[in-house]
Amino acid sequence: MESLTSAGSAPAPPTVRPHVVLLASPDAGHLIPLCELTRRLVEHHGFSATLVTFHSLSEQQSLPSSLPASVTIAPLPAVQIDDLPANAYRPTVLVELIRRSLPSLRTLLRSISSTTPIAALVPDFLCSTALPLATELGVPAYIFITTNITYLYLIHRLVELHEGASPGEYRALTDPLEIPGGLSLRRADLPEGYRSSKAPVYARLLAAGRRYRLAHGVLANSFSEMEPAAAEAFRQIAEQGAFPPVLPVGPLVRSESDEEAAAGASPVLEWLDGQPARSVVFVSFGSGGALSVEQTAELAAGLEATGHRFLWVVRMPSLDGRSYTFGAGADDDDPLVWLPQGFVQRTQGRGLAVAAWAPQVRVLSHPATAAFVSHCGWNSTLEGAVAGVPMIAWPLHTEQRMNALLLEESLGVALRLREREDGGVVAREEVAATVKELMGGG
Ligand code: UDP
Repeated sequence: MESLTSAGSAPAPPTVRPHVVLLASPDAGHLIPLCELTRRLVEHHGFSATLVTFHSLSEQQSLPSSLPASVTIAPLPAVQIDDLPANAYRPTVLVELIRRSLPSLRTLLRSISSTTPIAALVPDFLCSTALPLATELGVPAYIFITTNITYLYLIHRLVELHEGASPGEYRALTDPLEIPGGLSLRRADLPEGYRSSKAPVYARLLAAGRRYRLAHGVLANSFSEMEPAAAEAFRQIAEQGAFPPVLPVGPLVRSESDEEAAAGASPVLEWLDGQPARSVVFVSFGSGGALSVEQTAELAAGLEATGHRFLWVVRMPSLDGRSYTFGAGADDDDPLVWLPQGFVQRTQGRGLAVAAWAPQVRVLSHPATAAFVSHCGWNSTLEGAVAGVPMIAWPLHTEQRMNALLLEESLGVALRLREREDGGVVAREEVAATVKELMGGG
């Protein structure tokens, strides 16, 4: 770190950088923005940092190469979680993984603070069980919310609704739930865990929301122009002391050059280089979103019918009715074998289907990309917004329905695909008509 000297005076002693410890829960959607936050704290705000990671259920996601070399990576030892039901709700599994890792986290934090004072602990929002540890060590804590301020409003409403409730009493959120800015969320638009006050996950969400109040502040991966009314609502709520201050520190998205350094040359980008400007529909469902076999066939037929160019990141289909497959499947599974017979040949030249992963930030900012069919994961949403690519919203799980409404109704930057009333499938005609509406030629 630079130190200022003036002529004739002795050099100032080197400044010690304040040290921040960040906790990243597993899965790309959490790791990517937390690493970006870490990078900015170190490169732009003079911190030194330790990034604590947990053993994932699948192979550990590799950390972005953009992390400064000075950041210490501290993976916690693996814990047993194979007693949890195989079909348990994914966030519940992650929260349990983190809870069981707390003893080793305590040991790690004590060891760091024995040599280096910890200026702040920054757990991502699934790691709120770590907040009492911060209190125990006398360290200020800032929860990092990898999604939006609107989601945080849900949490706040849940906690507020339970003021004065007796232990074990759970009160249901109103249906619809009105969100600042005029968004009206029906029960089905809420993240799964918020829909029923009787579900065990509801109690866990309430407990987490209550813990957030232990934090000195909440860092949200959003910005006030994206959610002006929700940001203003929290300014007032914090003034009344009802919730810690919410600091919109986003959009924290990787830069193109960071992704290039990590991925290097990519056949996907070479293919895009050969396409006309603003001609390609990019289709991706994030790091875990999954379609059924029937839905995969409908999407394929819809893309084929549009006549437009497309780039589709195909993931393994879900065979158990769930809309995600985080951590499932083997590395050598080939999702492309699930595409309808002859689809790849019939669309050759104007369509490219790739297995599992594409360098999304670079795809979105490529001049050939015109539209983004997205599951509306918050990172993907921010990446699309930063690249200025209009979206077709196809929400699948967690808070994605709410995100889709925000994009469609509040911001007007997305069209929404509607499911068939008879069974939750988005029909090929709906895919084709919506793509044509956005791209022209409908
Ligand atoms: N991602 C990517 N390539 C892919 C799929 C996903 O780079 O083929 C990245 C994407 O750019 C985003 C993250 O993985 O940064 C996914 O996070 P998001 O919140 O959108 O969805 P989630 O995976 O958590 O459902």
